[in-house]
Amino acid sequence: MTITVGRKTGEPINFENNPQEKVLQSALRNQLAVPYECATGTCGSCRAKLISGELDQGWVDAPGRKALKTERGEFLMCQAVAQSDCEIRIPSSVSEGSVKGFIPDHYSGTVTQLKQLTDEVIAFSVALEETISFQAGQFMTLEFPDIVGARAYSMVNYAQQTDQLEFVVKRFEGGACSRLLFGQSLELLENQKVTLFGPLGHAVFEPDLEHDLLLLAGGSGIAGMMAMLEQADQIGYLESNSIELVFGVRSAVDIFYLSDLQRLTTKHLNNLKITIALSERMTDGELQQTTNLQVTQAFVHELISAAPTSDHTMAFIAGPPPMVDASIRELITDKGFTAEQIRYDKFA
Ligand SMILES: Cc1cc2nc3c(=O)[nH]c(=O)nc-3n(C[C@H](O)[C@H](O)[C@H](O)COP(=O)(O)OP(=O)(O)OC[C@H]3O[C@@H](n4cnc5c(N)ncnc54)[C@H](O)[C@@H]3O)c2cc1C
Repeated sequence: MTITVGRKTGEPINFENNPQEKVLQSALRNQLAVPYECATGTCGSCRAKLISGELDQGWVDAPGRKALKTERGEFLMCQAVAQSDCEIRIPSSVSEGSVKGFIPDHYSGTVTQLKQLTDEVIAFSVALEETISFQAGQFMTLEFPDIVGARAYSMVNYAQQTDQLEFVVKRFEGGACSRLLFGQSLELLENQKVTLFGPLGHAVFEPDLEHDLLLLAGGSGIAGMMAMLEQADQIGYLESNSIELVFGVRSAVDIFYLSDLQRLTTKHLNNLKITIALSERMTDGELQQTTNLQVTQAFVHELISAAPTSDHTMAFIAGPPPMVDASIRELITDKGFTAEQIRYDKFA
């Protein structure tokens, strides 16, 4: 099937759409930088309008559909699947070959190395059938058999090219993937087949820009930041730039990646500062295990005003939407950050 994107100026753009492929996936795979954020139906950023042809709208209860004018043919590209040749319009201008970075594609893999990090957090790897390249901070959508729809998970590891992707998942009460991961013995999930699409996401680390980084993570929002720290460590980024990470969890028992964070802080004493922000009170005993990291009782956004920043600082925020929104507000009102200095992923 062919999808045609009409444009206000210039010739329409045509691209081929595989059967069962979401419109967003085929557009990105064909290197059209169409707008999107979550790629999983919640944010509504990938809104487009059907001019002619037939679409299966996919997830009818998707939260991102709430703002759509469906009577005017609006649909979510991340959910819709073409049933015939279609002509669509996108609210921003698009051009061919405009996807920046690595071109997203479909992958298959096997879940392996499942590990419970805390009561609420599980890490696992996916062994891919082929190699992939991605930028630190990016995510993939994962589809598990027997679970309807895709879930977005950010890569924890970083390598220029790899066939292993590491993910970390926080339990979400009542969620389908959470039930799959947390509701049974981890051995039963070993070797589970998954399909993936990506790499996706705009909140990416670009070392060439030589920014100082302010990384603000809530819970599993630490995922992409671990990838950024890994890349920064590999390329000697911290020799000439500084990174400050604030990692928010509820209490000391909820901290994960502690030994990795301690190892990195010890190695880069001068230019890497890590603060664990606990939203609940901690005991003295709990404090001892965190040794060379700063630990304080606060919400992540409350620590922004004390962080040293400049016009050359790039802030990355990831985690639950209220934490991301509060941090963006604080960066803009207290620190005078511009929109260009802030990159974020809301784990909605
Ligand atoms: C960019 C991004 C990166 C993320 N990275 C991480 C991460 O690294 N670690 C982490 O723990 N969480 C991450 N999340 C959140 C994660 O994607 C899930 O929302 C979360 O794990 C809860 O999933 P669940 O299946 O347990 O909950 P559910 O409530 O069952 O599902 C959550 C999400 O799945 C999709 N979904 C649900 N039902 C359907 C359906 N019928 N059809 C289609 N889609 C459906 C929707 O996107 C929904 O918001 C990220 C989210 C985003 C947007």
